Amino acid sequence: MSTFVPEPHLLESPRGRAWPQPPGTGPARPSSPAPPTTAAAVIVGAGPAGLAAASALWHLGVRDVVVLDRNGRPCGRFLDRIDTLKQRVLRSPYQHHPGVEGYRDCELLDFARLHWARLTETERREIRMAQSGHRSVVPVDVFEAYCRHVAALHHVDARTWRATARRVTPGPDHVTVSGPGFTVTAPYAILCLGEERRDAPAHWTDGAPLPDGVGYWDEPVPDGGESLVVVGAGLSAAHLVSNGLAAGRSVHWILRAAAERYQCADVNASFFRAEGRARFDGTSWADRQQLMRAQRRASVMFEFRPLFQQAEADGRLTVHRGREVRELTAVAGGGAAVLLADGTRIAGDHVALALGTTVSTGEALLGAGPAAVRDGWPDLDERTLAYRNAPRVLAVGAAAGMVLGPAARNIDGHRVATARVAATVAAGLEGRTLPQPARVPAAERYEAAVVHA
Ligand SMILES: Cc1cc2nc3c(=O)[nH]c(=O)nc-3n(C[C@H](O)[C@H](O)[C@H](O)COP(=O)(O)OP(=O)(O)OC[C@H]3O[C@@H](n4cnc5c(N)ncnc54)[C@H](O)[C@@H]3O)c2cc1C
Repeated sequence: MSTFVPEPHLLESPRGRAWPQPPGTGPARPSSPAPPTTAAAVIVGAGPAGLAAASALWHLGVRDVVVLDRNGRPCGRFLDRIDTLKQRVLRSPYQHHPGVEGYRDCELLDFARLHWARLTETERREIRMAQSGHRSVVPVDVFEAYCRHVAALHHVDARTWRATARRVTPGPDHVTVSGPGFTVTAPYAILCLGEERRDAPAHWTDGAPLPDGVGYWDEPVPDGGESLVVVGAGLSAAHLVSNGLAAGRSVHWILRAAAERYQCADVNASFFRAEGRARFDGTSWADRQQLMRAQRRASVMFEFRPLFQQAEADGRLTVHRGREVRELTAVAGGGAAVLLADGTRIAGDHVALALGTTVSTGEALLGAGPAAVRDGWPDLDERTLAYRNAPRVLAVGAAAGMVLGPAARNIDGHRVATARVAATVAAGLEGRTLPQPARVPAAERYEAAVVHA
């Protein structure tokens, strides 16, 4: 039995190295500034989920795809968020890659090995860890280059347009996706919208906008200043704390939980496997909600622990555990302050809020009826991930959480969702329907999956 020893230097991969694309797969841009008016399938969102969906359709022979993204760059928002936080490695291991389930393309681990000469000794050791089936960390540089490779290989760049969808109108035979200056009609639409950042509760500011000196995790922290206050318990908060310490600031970290939670991933590893998903499959709505509450909790990668413990011991970091925020205020002369429910006031040159994310359900585009959102989750068919009230519209990503479990929001979950969605779209375009699987009681399915895992 080996003991996991966290090493903070694993978090420090270099960023911004040049990564050549394999010969013949250079990125191509769309030939027209506006998307075409028709397609076989339209994908909204070009994050890791949209990239996986477009690539899976390509393998199934569906090439007339239009991908629409606000940012316009495959995986752009994901990488922008990561770079704003100065995150250098992914949380998910090499096995979680935005490739296509069932097709042995060059996978993330193969890709990293092909670029061995570019990697540091630490990064090479992580590859060996992955090869021996252990947890490993993936440099953001490698992941970005791999996403470019996947996008180029499956012609996703050439099918991606910078465009913001405002409306998705489902009809009996087609779906129309429209926004400023464009309308695309296709037999199927796949919503890969990801998650939006969670805003501060209105009562923290008495309904007013955030005061000066307060920002969110996906906004840059202004340079300079001697002190930083961070609110939140997840990996984004940890990056903000660690960046503040690295810049020589004194940092206050406010947590609602009684203690910080150190874990490899936010999601228990079993939920990336069949037996974990089977715990969601066919079980009652209330049970799924309970599982989601219990299993999707903010946590921080182990590697931060020695760093934070040392900083707390020598007084550079003060952790306020089990504390509720009551109010955010600006401070005259600069900076901001957080008033806690117990009356403590914590001021700093900047207050950074890392309160997590909320699932984009599709309701803003589809409307309340077709999205049929319940308790924050859209109503999706469990077999196809199609909206039950709009069967030509399907979802990949966090929105599929109540079908696939907490891993639906992660890169690995996208591969599982994509396999179902792409097969449904390809079969529908060919005029086939997917065979109905035999209904097996959920408890039996769970036991069978555990036996075969
Ligand atoms: C800092 C950070 C680090 C993370 N690290 C990991 C990790 O290591 N491993 C992991 O598995 N997961 C990680 N996650 C979770 C992560 O969010 C997902 O894995 C991944 O980004 C989800 O991909 P997605 O395509 O569903 O969403 P996104 O990456 O958010 O992509 C959705 C895209 O859709 C676009 N979009 C949304 N609405 C519209 C619209 N109306 N019109 C046009 N475009 C639209 C958005 O602009 C965005 O580009 C991390 C999350 C964060 C915030």
